[in-house]
Amino acid sequence: MISIKRATTLLLNGKLVAIPTETVYGLGADAKNPIAVQNIYTVKGRPATNPLIIHIPNEGAIIDWAIDIPENAWKLAKAFWPGPLTLILKRHPSVPKIVTGGQDTVALRVPNHPLTLTLLSQFGGGIAAPSANRYGRISPTTAEHVEKALGSDVDYILDGGPCTLGIESTIVSLVDPSPIILRQGSISALELTKILGGKLSDKKELSTVKVPGSSQSHYAPRQPLYLLEKEKLFATLSQLSKENKSSSVLCFGEQPAVTPFLISTWIRMSSHPKDCAQQLYQHLHILDKTDSNCILVEMPPKTPEWLAITDRLQRAAQHATSLIT
Ligand code: AMP
Ligand code: MG
Repeated sequence: MISIKRATTLLLNGKLVAIPTETVYGLGADAKNPIAVQNIYTVKGRPATNPLIIHIPNEGAIIDWAIDIPENAWKLAKAFWPGPLTLILKRHPSVPKIVTGGQDTVALRVPNHPLTLTLLSQFGGGIAAPSANRYGRISPTTAEHVEKALGSDVDYILDGGPCTLGIESTIVSLVDPSPIILRQGSISALELTKILGGKLSDKKELSTVKVPGSSQSHYAPRQPLYLLEKEKLFATLSQLSKENKSSSVLCFGEQPAVTPFLISTWIRMSSHPKDCAQQLYQHLHILDKTDSNCILVEMPPKTPEWLAITDRLQRAAQHATSLIT
């Protein structure tokens, strides 16, 4: 049974609660309880230097977690919260450093999910929550994914159904001379620029904010994943089939009715970026369960609306790229 009361009590007692959001499921703990937060790192196997996003109930709560809040923070919060936008601000001295990976910046977001918004208002504080999966693995977009990945290591899963957006939030630094996108997500640079009405950079290397974890391999299935242009994908499929190796395929086209290739599973991705994002991790979870030798994924178009999806796929492929000729 879904019980917000139970989730609230567990958080107040320093326990871990998986929370639904519109992006992915989070592994949540009381952000002001250093022992509970330490437990998030332990359960995930996440390095202590990778800071956690704090989920807050509304924009008014920013002042409890950040100082020197610039006008742009209020503008963006008003425009996009609750929603998939994380703001990097200066840390309020009361925020335990364990949450921020030892940094003097803090990451804040109001998630857009009715259960979690109610939980946040009943709990009254902030919930520190990274994605509810083991470090580096595929992010969870259903309660079942969380259950499979974490089992009894999480004290309660608040089942809010499948996530409606499906990839992690856009992250914007507001502690640099002008705003910088540190991670691509559902909210695009164009949408942000409209609200900011000024300069916005997508060159995260220009930021003074250290974002450990942002360029490493991530979202990785157990099988090697290769991200390839369509022609290369078919050439690789052919080569692997000759070597008697089977592939799982994620691409924008239908599986050919008759094929000489050894195909274990074929999933067609949506050609609409929003639908594609919503289904991406679900697809990767399914592909990862197959007994093929590898996963071949077609490279998305190189237009701005595909940036966030391409970023996740590149990181899922990071370990595998050197394995193929
Ligand atoms: P996730 O892995 O989805 O939980 O997102 C966490 C990411 O948010 C980190 O890898 C950082 O890139 C960024 N982040 C979180 N907290 C901070 C912080 N205090 N300062 C700077 N970046 C942060
Ligand atoms: Mg994650």
